[in-house]
Amino acid sequence: MRPFEYLRADDATQAVTVVTIDPRAAFLAGGTTQVDLMKDGVAAPTRLVDITRLPLGGVSHERDAVRVGALTTMEELAADPVVAERFAFVREALLAGASPQLRNMATIGGNLLQRTRCRYFRDPGVAACDKRDPGSGCAAIEGVQRMHAILGTSGRCIALHASDVAVPLTALDATVHVQGVAGPRLVRLTEFYLPPGDTPHLENVLRQGELITAVEMPLPPPGTRSHYLKVRDRASYEFALTSAAVAVETDGGVIVRARVALGGVGTIPWRAWDAEDVLAGARPGRAVFERAAEAALAGARPLPGTAFKVELAERTLVRALETVTEDAS
Ligand code: SF4
Repeated sequence: MRPFEYLRADDATQAVTVVTIDPRAAFLAGGTTQVDLMKDGVAAPTRLVDITRLPLGGVSHERDAVRVGALTTMEELAADPVVAERFAFVREALLAGASPQLRNMATIGGNLLQRTRCRYFRDPGVAACDKRDPGSGCAAIEGVQRMHAILGTSGRCIALHASDVAVPLTALDATVHVQGVAGPRLVRLTEFYLPPGDTPHLENVLRQGELITAVEMPLPPPGTRSHYLKVRDRASYEFALTSAAVAVETDGGVIVRARVALGGVGTIPWRAWDAEDVLAGARPGRAVFERAAEAALAGARPLPGTAFKVELAERTLVRALETVTEDAS
């Protein structure tokens, strides 16, 4: 690890100013991503601004939404009673997303900004990687692809987005509160991440020095049932091969509104708008779920190493939809 300067921020304005004027500075929160990247030699900030003393933690309940401070840990959010009752799929994704040790350190803001687990990205000096070193190429396209994406890919990068909790948050239309030197702004999570295109090193819409301060989750209508289903190679401490986050509101045996997002398949948490269109107004059942799943994966561009993911993702979504609608008729 290279030497760096450590600063502890006393207020958010100070932290944002320091990181804005110094492009080699970075924020430090739980450290579960940042320190790993520094040890691997992927990130080499010359200055780390510790934000853990800022008053950005805690869950507050508002009339139509739950506001989650960016420094709230995964474990704290999973333990919140309103989250358990009204956002079941968020809680399930948090618990499936990391070991208890990591959940007690990792923050929600940091979780949204975690970098890809692409093995080539994390192997500097050996593997070509356009995300880490723009213009160098992409070792994964001719390499081992099992843990890579099939939706939102480009000829420059097929890296998978690794977050679990970002998947139900994307389905929910959560909003990210951001603070920069010009003041605060709000970004919808569905517009927060950038697919790789020709610029894989640009992963989200944050500007240099902008800090996530909170995430706001709109309360779904009472009676909405939700579920996060994660399929992986082993039962714990593993990233998703495929996952599905679904929230379904029914009335009289008919789906009024379905929210669907997929994980383990996209370069960004993947909102399956086309699947939602298929489900709206339909009676729950395997046939319509399969049509929704086909719609969700219609744009997939698998490579030989990821071809299995198309059917697996479809089955994952069908199973998740069956789970949340089993008592709906
Ligand atoms: Fe880098 Fe993306 Fe290629 Fe992985 S898939 S090696 S992150 S460019």
